Amino acid sequence: MMTSKFGKAPEVKAGNHGKDAFFSENRRNLLKEITGIAAIGVLASAPIPVSASEANSRAALPARQPGVHDYDVIIANGLVILEQGETLTDVAIKNGKIAAIGSSLRGAEQVIDATGLVVSPGMVDAHVHINEPGGGIRNDWEGYVTGTRACAKGGVTTIIEMPLNQLPATVDKKTLEIKYAAGEGKLVIDVASHGGLVPYNVENNGIKEQSDGGVVGYKCFMATCGDPSIKGDFLNVDDYSLYEGMRQIAKTGKVLMIHAENAAITDRLEQIAYKKGHVSLKSYVATRPVFAEVEAIRRAVLFAKITGCPINFCHVSSPEAVEEVIKARGEGVNITCETCNQYLYFVTDELDEIGPLAKCSPPIRDKIAQDGLWRHVLAGNINFITSDHSPCPAKLKNKKNAFDAWGGIAGVQNDVDIFFDESVQKRGMPLKQFARLIASNPADRFALHTKGRIAIGKDADFTFIKPNSPYILRAEDLEYKNKISAYVGRKIGARIVRTVLRGETVYSQEDGLTGSFPGRYIKV
Ligand SMILES: [Zn+2]
Repeated sequence: MMTSKFGKAPEVKAGNHGKDAFFSENRRNLLKEITGIAAIGVLASAPIPVSASEANSRAALPARQPGVHDYDVIIANGLVILEQGETLTDVAIKNGKIAAIGSSLRGAEQVIDATGLVVSPGMVDAHVHINEPGGGIRNDWEGYVTGTRACAKGGVTTIIEMPLNQLPATVDKKTLEIKYAAGEGKLVIDVASHGGLVPYNVENNGIKEQSDGGVVGYKCFMATCGDPSIKGDFLNVDDYSLYEGMRQIAKTGKVLMIHAENAAITDRLEQIAYKKGHVSLKSYVATRPVFAEVEAIRRAVLFAKITGCPINFCHVSSPEAVEEVIKARGEGVNITCETCNQYLYFVTDELDEIGPLAKCSPPIRDKIAQDGLWRHVLAGNINFITSDHSPCPAKLKNKKNAFDAWGGIAGVQNDVDIFFDESVQKRGMPLKQFARLIASNPADRFALHTKGRIAIGKDADFTFIKPNSPYILRAEDLEYKNKISAYVGRKIGARIVRTVLRGETVYSQEDGLTGSFPGRYIKV
């Protein structure tokens, strides 16, 4: 559905060439086209791929001692995205860690043939809302089982889970422990947590307690959020609590995730539009103008300069927002920003056709803004991609008046396939940059030292992507508790065919999802 200023990458036809199709002359040309000369150098010196049958026979080769294998798993013949670029090679796994990378690895209990597939680091999605526990009010929102199964199916091997929309919200030691307990034994992939910064926890040691409890970062809202009538719900910061919270977070060394929109302006514009009887998503977008995002970023940057707090701007939706981040970066602020697939995929003009499933805040912007965002993604000015998976029951989306609908898009299951299609296949992004945006950059930013890259000693977390294999997303494909998403009905040009968590396959296209729960909480 998208056209690009960057030109369309040449199409590679899968054809009937079987396993060699992806590595055919066409593919090499495509890679030359999309990865540049350096990466092709890696490819050119890569070993010649061995056949699937040869790969499978490796498992049967005698090990050094009878019954003892050097490795638990070898992933053979994939186009593996390493830090320096992609190469045709094998990866060996032992005890859940990457033990070797090379072309003639032998002696594993299991060999997984990845011929024709891109082997990427599993995605680290730093912005996901799981709504468990629901506190009796949000019990039918997303849960740990459904949410992490959706991740596994979509190639996401680690999420950093948000402190809000579950009840109670995560704001101190007690509520963090409630959340950990709610997910115990229900995780298919690994889960780290963001603590909360709210006006009511800056004076009761809540920030430090959450750091001691292992959160990897914090989240706050400058835009209005939460329901003050619900006990324990998350609430947005005022300027004092933002400043004071940043002062405290700076001492932990962790990063504050900020939803940056000016609350007074967006609230008032919304009230006025509502009173006038506006009901469309397009008019909802108009109540959350770009300058409201920019103003909040400037204010938070100033506080970050004063407090020394490392910050990340969540879901930036406009090039103007990114330009503020670039400026602050140049001034020495410890600052990053993320954007989400939805801002890179949808545009304002189509929102009313899709309906409230595409409602979120900041809102989906116009084509000019989207092109600007893509420019910043490709230029490396946006640090990572997240889903901001923010699901809710269908009844909260089925509203005639868009202003009455819940704002949030369910998308974690399509993090990787959509972004691969839109960035690598449609806009020619090099694979190593793709892997940085979905995995190594977020892992580094939140100190997830065992995650995010295919390198010896790291956790053996992978997603296998089948390029150029379009499918249409159906509601029944979704693993969410509420099988609704703005992406349903869309043609997605790549497919996740396997997800591996610490050496264990948790999803494959052939066998479906694991029935077990090998995921763990990550506490730092
Ligand atoms: Zn969010």
